[in-house]
Amino acid sequence: MAADDCLFCRIVSGQIPATVVHETERTLAFRDIAPKAPVHVLVIPKQHEPTLAALAAADSALVGELASTAAVVAAAEGVDTDGYRVLFNTGPDAGQDVFHVHAHVLGGRPLGPMLSAFTG
Ligand code: 5GP
Ligand code: ZN
Repeated sequence: MAADDCLFCRIVSGQIPATVVHETERTLAFRDIAPKAPVHVLVIPKQHEPTLAALAAADSALVGELASTAAVVAAAEGVDTDGYRVLFNTGPDAGQDVFHVHAHVLGGRPLGPMLSAFTG
């Protein structure tokens, strides 16, 4: 079910343009508008779910399909050998801005440490 006010639902419906790099029956992969790495692709379910937890609760098989699409994208983008990072921001502490679950697929350069050190 699409959410009327959701940016990524509008990309799925074609109301907002995006550079699509891969599509399956239930997933869509498109380039991030503000890339943080030479390869920065967002992988989403076409179905609107706000977070990874909500998606897992609604349709756990679709979580697997997101992972499979992320792997296909990484290979197609040529970063599967050197490596890449897949991450889901969830909620305010993680800086989630768009509440339609999405996996960031990042690569094409050494990505550095996952996070800055925790200093307590
Ligand atoms: P979040 O912070 O929610 O994990 O990630 C949202 C991502 O969506 C950001 O990396 C941001 O650059 C990207 N983004 C925001 N608006 C658009 C848009 O209109 N088109 C595309 N392709 N990406 C967008
Ligand atoms: Zn949505």
